[in-house]
Amino acid sequence: MIATGDVPLGAPYSRLMNRVRVVLLTQVIGPLDYKLPDGMDAKPGSIVIVPLGPRKLTGVVWDEGVFPDEPVEDKRLRAVLELVDTPPLRDGLRRLVDWVADYYLSSHAGVLRMVLSSSAALAPKGTVTEYRRTDDEPTRMTPQRAAALDALEDAQGLVRELAAEAGVSDAVIRGLIKVGAFEPVEVTIDDPFPVPQPDFAAPVLNEEQAAAATEICSTLDEGSSDVFLLDGVTGSGKTETYFEAVAKALELGKQVLVLLPEIALTQPFLSRFEARFGVAPATWHSGMRATERRRVWRKIASGEAQVVVGARSALFMPFANPGLIIVDEAHEISFKQEDGVRYHARDVAVMRGKFEGFPVVLASATPALESRHMARIGRYKTLEIPSRFGAAKLPSLAAIDLTEDAPARGQWIAPTLMKALEERLDRGEQSLLFLNRRGYAPLTLCRTCGHRFECPNCTSWMVEHRLVRRLACHHCGHVMPPPDACPECEEEDSLVACGPGVERIRDEVAAIFPEARIFVATSDTLWSPAKAADFVAQVENKAIDIIVGTQLVTKGYHFPELTLVGVIDADLGLEGGDLRAAERTFQQIMQAAGRAGRGEKPGEVYIQTRSPEHPVISALVKGERDEFYDAETEQRKAAGAPPFGRFAAIIISSEDQAEAIEASRSIGASAPEADGLYVYGPAPAPLAMLRGRHRQRLLVHARRDTELQAIIRDWLGDLEFPRGVRVGVDVDPYSFL
Ligand code: ADP
Ligand code: ZN
Repeated sequence: MIATGDVPLGAPYSRLMNRVRVVLLTQVIGPLDYKLPDGMDAKPGSIVIVPLGPRKLTGVVWDEGVFPDEPVEDKRLRAVLELVDTPPLRDGLRRLVDWVADYYLSSHAGVLRMVLSSSAALAPKGTVTEYRRTDDEPTRMTPQRAAALDALEDAQGLVRELAAEAGVSDAVIRGLIKVGAFEPVEVTIDDPFPVPQPDFAAPVLNEEQAAAATEICSTLDEGSSDVFLLDGVTGSGKTETYFEAVAKALELGKQVLVLLPEIALTQPFLSRFEARFGVAPATWHSGMRATERRRVWRKIASGEAQVVVGARSALFMPFANPGLIIVDEAHEISFKQEDGVRYHARDVAVMRGKFEGFPVVLASATPALESRHMARIGRYKTLEIPSRFGAAKLPSLAAIDLTEDAPARGQWIAPTLMKALEERLDRGEQSLLFLNRRGYAPLTLCRTCGHRFECPNCTSWMVEHRLVRRLACHHCGHVMPPPDACPECEEEDSLVACGPGVERIRDEVAAIFPEARIFVATSDTLWSPAKAADFVAQVENKAIDIIVGTQLVTKGYHFPELTLVGVIDADLGLEGGDLRAAERTFQQIMQAAGRAGRGEKPGEVYIQTRSPEHPVISALVKGERDEFYDAETEQRKAAGAPPFGRFAAIIISSEDQAEAIEASRSIGASAPEADGLYVYGPAPAPLAMLRGRHRQRLLVHARRDTELQAIIRDWLGDLEFPRGVRVGVDVDPYSFL
């Protein structure tokens, strides 16, 4: 059922009649053969509609030789019903799909669903009817109607989108349409995108920038598929530099994809792009309406959308003429997809460049250790921009030893940092306090009996969000109002918050500087491109003095008036012993520090810690980035950890705990023995329960040269599990929960 990468393409395969092999999208039942009716010109990559039992399903005609032959007599074949009117998926994209399915142990159908992510895109051209609010109020009001009208004041979309946004049923929306509270709007879905102008406002690059840009541009000219690690310090002008390559690709008539790690970075990026190229690029992310998705998908497929900026899922778009992929902030772990097909967008981007023959640029001030290693061994080309652009200097970094310079009782900000904040407020400059914890407090407990609030569905604490008066689970989204009394001992007013989250830091600052304008910037407040744009505008207009934020605001943003960064708890990320804990902490703090002093005024960074001697902290303070990476690389090598060895996690889950344990034991018991392969577990996963499912885990550790995927595929392929059991494999895992 799953292709093994080593089957030669184009292997002979009986073709007595016009027969095609079709990968069905909606089923994980493997590819099926169909016959082509006379005159239907379907070839590999063509999107078709085929019958399966009484149903009609979408599928893609696939290449011969990818899947093992399963001869079916010609006369038993059913015919393809319809050839969809879109360009066939290109050869390079099909090879990418083969590779992703093979490497990440997924089905072809799973990967193709990402390629054809907009089912609406396949519908015939024309217009679509959306609905929007009118001024009419319905004469008969129900609570649901009121809720919908309230939530959808300025909204526009399809019935089901409006219903989802308002949290009501489709019927409520249809009812409101009937009484005239919403009116239809015809939306054309084939509007062209404006064309970016390569030389609209090209900046003069400095010498370092120009050298880097020239290298990428000459690869574009040659049409080769080099991978570049664009390694420039924060504020060095990496964006301006890769924009030069974007301009070059446009001149060559090629399409460009820019991947960003967070939707929240989209809007500032669009503005910068527009300033440089005269028009905004097309965007692609999960928050888009179906009609927008359809338009973007089709224009990418036709080649008319020339530049697309998007989240990782944009990687699978069917570009007609792709010529360059930029992965910005390429070290970010949000490029790793954790559900469905568990792929890493950075690695898939590199493979796409390889299969389709174009360069890929990984831009970062703090490259992933793996990427840096690839550059060291000559697989990637390093392009360095060692200094900040213009007069801006890198900020100075200092550690605050919390054991000596201790915050007041029940507070989290040391006197030195508090004083630095005060100086900024006096001078009218801006500050950023970084703490990677949403909400008010990470743990709530009862001071009388010690009861802790745990999520009923997950092995995790409920996090207090005081702004919305809720306790929330950050894993499954379960929420509850904070109770007045302890549910265990029934003592009233006995609940206490333990530890700080960003909201609590906000309160602490507000109590000391009541005049300060403070903004809490997290995924709770910056959940859409529009919210993020509003936030950026407020900072730029100096309507905000102090930002208290999570990792969401530590990258990408350029705020010239921001001169102070305080890292509230540098030790936080070092807990837990994850393989990448040190690297990740280093990157996060470097990125946060990189927000300071990007304009003319110098920046200052304070790192609060209980262990200033820790290698991560001391490397940060001394500015010894390469020394840190080298030491970390040596440790990985000694441990046989990535990039020197490989991991795969096998996660077994079920609503029934005994069933999950039983299944994991049978997997453990049949573990293969192979040279250089070690299997640990099964054991309960650290997140032993998630969304109501009990989870067991095995960790496979393999030497670099083992055929890890083939071994796992054979191993798991032979086993059978009860219906309620799910077995997922995470190749190159980033989360060890
Ligand atoms: P990075 O992405 O490396 O952190 P940016 O690309 O955001 O850096 O650049 C930092 C600032 O310097 C931005 O405001 C950018 O517009 C400006 N800048 C960088 N290079 C140039 C250049 N060659 N000409 C004019 N402005 C530049
Ligand atoms: Zn939960």
